[in-house]
Amino acid sequence: MIDLKTQFKNAIQDNRLGHALLFLGEDSQKKQKTALELAAGLFCEQKVAPFGCQECLSCKQVSEKRYPYLRFLEPETEEASEIKIGQIRDLKTTPGNPSWIIPHAELLNPQASNALLKTLEEPRGNQFFILIAPNTRSILATLVSRCQRIFFKGNPSIELPTPVEIPESHLERLSLIEKLVKSKTDIKTLLLGWHKDASWQFKEKLLQAEQDLKRHVNLQLILESLLLSK
Ligand SMILES: [Zn+2]
Repeated sequence: MIDLKTQFKNAIQDNRLGHALLFLGEDSQKKQKTALELAAGLFCEQKVAPFGCQECLSCKQVSEKRYPYLRFLEPETEEASEIKIGQIRDLKTTPGNPSWIIPHAELLNPQASNALLKTLEEPRGNQFFILIAPNTRSILATLVSRCQRIFFKGNPSIELPTPVEIPESHLERLSLIEKLVKSKTDIKTLLLGWHKDASWQFKEKLLQAEQDLKRHVNLQLILESLLLSK
C-alpha cells in the first residue's frame, strides 16, 4: 500500500491533482495537518512536492497559517454554527485570488454550498480549495461531485478520476463531444482523467487544452481541437 504522501507526489507529478479537494475521515487533526502540508508544497518556493521544503518563507508562513495567499473559511464567530452565503460572496471578491482551506466544510449551509459550487467550477488563476469534512453525507452532493476525494479512513487514498474513454472513429468522437458539452461535464476532471497513460503528443494537447481553459476558450472548441485534430 502506497502511503498518502507518495500518492500526493505521484498525483502532482502526473498532473492528476484537482484544484478542489475534499478530505474525508474522522481524524480531524490528521486532515488539518495534511491540508497545511499539501498547501505548503503547492506554494513552496523550491517547488518540493508534495509537502514543500519546510524551510523557505512560503513553507514557513503556510505552516504558521499566515501566508497571504492561503485563507481559511470558518463560521464568522465561535458561537455561529454555520458558514453563510455572505462569506462565500466575500471569498469570491477577495483580492489576489487566494486559495482556501475550509476546515469544517460540513458547516456550509445550503445557500453557501450552492454559491461555493459556482466558485469551484470557475477557479481564478492557480486557486485551489481544500474542503475538510467527516464524510460525504455531511455535504451537499453536488459539491462532493465537484471535488477530488481524499480518504483518510483505513488505508488513506486519493481518488483519481476515471478517464472517459475516447473512441477511435471521427463520428463517435463528434458525438462524444456533443454529449460532454450538453452534460456540462467538469472539464478539469475530464482532462485530469486523460492524463494517465497519455502519449506525449496527447499530453502536449492536454496541456494546451488546460491553457485554453484558463483563457476561457469555450468547451466545444477545446474538445474539438483536443479530439478531432490530427
Ligand atoms: Zn518551501
